[in-house]
Amino acid sequence: MVIAMRESGASLEQIAEAIGRTKERVRQILVKNTGTTRHGFLSTQQLYQLAGISRNQIIELYRDGIIKPAAEWTSGTHHYILWDSDVVSKIDDYYNKKRVCKICGKTLAKGRWVYCSDQCYKEGQKYKYKSAEAKRKHLKNIKEYLERRKGALSPVNLSGKISY
Ligand SMILES: [Zn+2]
Repeated sequence: MVIAMRESGASLEQIAEAIGRTKERVRQILVKNTGTTRHGFLSTQQLYQLAGISRNQIIELYRDGIIKPAAEWTSGTHHYILWDSDVVSKIDDYYNKKRVCKICGKTLAKGRWVYCSDQCYKEGQKYKYKSAEAKRKHLKNIKEYLERRKGALSPVNLSGKISY
């Protein structure tokens, strides 16, 4: 039970309280049975330091379901999350795959996320790179504009202004 609790991220104090022993006794049990008092998981801070990305990026990856915690629980107002150490390589893979320019495919320099250069950024703003949804909206707008224009130019509206 002590080992299981430690594995799921409980502090020595929490375990001591749960089994009704001292913190020192918990430490002894852990060292005797596992050789260490450390659990095999990373905190979120350790994870983003090891992965070399920001805390917000970790949260984004977590929200997008790209990385999954080994354990998470809420205590009071705190939400605790622990990570397997192999999550670091998962994050590496994810960013390496994405780290090419959207337009030319060149590897992106540090600090660049979508386009490798201003030139590729400008290219990326062109109509042909817009999403299908954006193109559909654009066509709808043109159609509506042409219909309004047709209405404005109809003989009914222009009656009296132009003699045929
Ligand atoms: Zn590029």
